[in-house]
Amino acid sequence: MTEDQFETIAIHAGQQPDPATGAVVVPIYATSTYVQEAPGVHKGYEYSRTDNPTRTALQTQLAALEGVDEHDDGGCVATSSGLAATALIGYLLSPGDHIVLPNDAYGGTFRLITQVFAKHGITWTAGDLTTEEGIREAVRETTKLIWVETPTNPLLRIIDIALAADIARETGAWLVVDNTFATPYLQQPLSLGGDMVLHSSTKYLGGHSDTVGGAIITNDADLYERLRFLQNSTGPIPGPFDAYLVLRGIKTLALRMERHNQNASIIANFLEGDPRVARVWYPGLPSDPGHEIARRQMTGFGGVISFVPTAGLEAAHSIVTRTRLFFLAESLGGVESLIELPALMTHLSVEGTELEVPQGLVRLSVGVEHVDDLLADLDRALG
Ligand SMILES: *Cc1c(COP(=O)(O)O)cnc(C)c1O
Repeated sequence: MTEDQFETIAIHAGQQPDPATGAVVVPIYATSTYVQEAPGVHKGYEYSRTDNPTRTALQTQLAALEGVDEHDDGGCVATSSGLAATALIGYLLSPGDHIVLPNDAYGGTFRLITQVFAKHGITWTAGDLTTEEGIREAVRETTKLIWVETPTNPLLRIIDIALAADIARETGAWLVVDNTFATPYLQQPLSLGGDMVLHSSTKYLGGHSDTVGGAIITNDADLYERLRFLQNSTGPIPGPFDAYLVLRGIKTLALRMERHNQNASIIANFLEGDPRVARVWYPGLPSDPGHEIARRQMTGFGGVISFVPTAGLEAAHSIVTRTRLFFLAESLGGVESLIELPALMTHLSVEGTELEVPQGLVRLSVGVEHVDDLLADLDRALG
């Protein structure tokens, strides 16, 4: 597999025709258990919490796309949601361990670390991880995990993964990179020194807003074994149908990301040049503070844009209810365009914390519709 390119791996890794029937598509193995010839003698599957062939196909495919193929020591564990993946990583820690996370991490990640992990004796520091000083200031002697999300949600801040990896190594901490926004098509954190990559496969990997899922990929044999143990011991697995939906979605990931990149870049430029818009956040804009690092570590800038209208909060409220094609909804990364107000929707749980987002902020998840229709829709909604 190693010599194949991304698009080819997406369609072939883990997806040999079904040995029993020749079916080209990996079947949805709706079974909880597997027959054994004698106790302990079986074809590799015993019980579907531990392993299921549809999930195995997805895990092989996604690991290969993050640069971990069958000959490497690591692998992927697929989970029932992105936050279930985060929770699994939490189980790797012990009381007294410290986590460093960005001060605009995904709200659900922040809530899990600060309200759930914290109850189990885990301490944390949220800081500005976009600079070397920021990361060094946040790190403690007890830091076991440096949590990086790049680009961040919803402010699209860019964190230098290679730099964070160097500091993690010096500290003796693991570097986790939430790669949900970029996907392995645009960014490969393990090749930049990351220890674990996390995904909400609900977003671009699934790509069609029809399933909730997550995954962790690592190239470290020991971490992989521990994550497999935790997946089996705690049980947050995707069912075979959900695993199938993500496996199927990933087959077109490269095509979709190309269009997300193109559409978002055109729309970000339109918004930046429009007097009705006060500020735009998109790492693809040369004016964006993260642009230089993004150009180094990503091959495209993705489909999420945030902006603040010149007329402020009230204008933001009316814009999100006036679009016709951009649906007012949480989530992102699907083929259809979405619009939302993070402060009132996805990021409500961070109100009053150091992660608070600007009140008038509008977040767009730019889909793969025709860009002219999307531009016309936004132009009308901006009033
Ligand atoms: C959505 C999201 C998550 C959480 O994933 P779920 O599948 O909703 O549990 C984590 N990180 C980022 C960046 C996200 O956008």
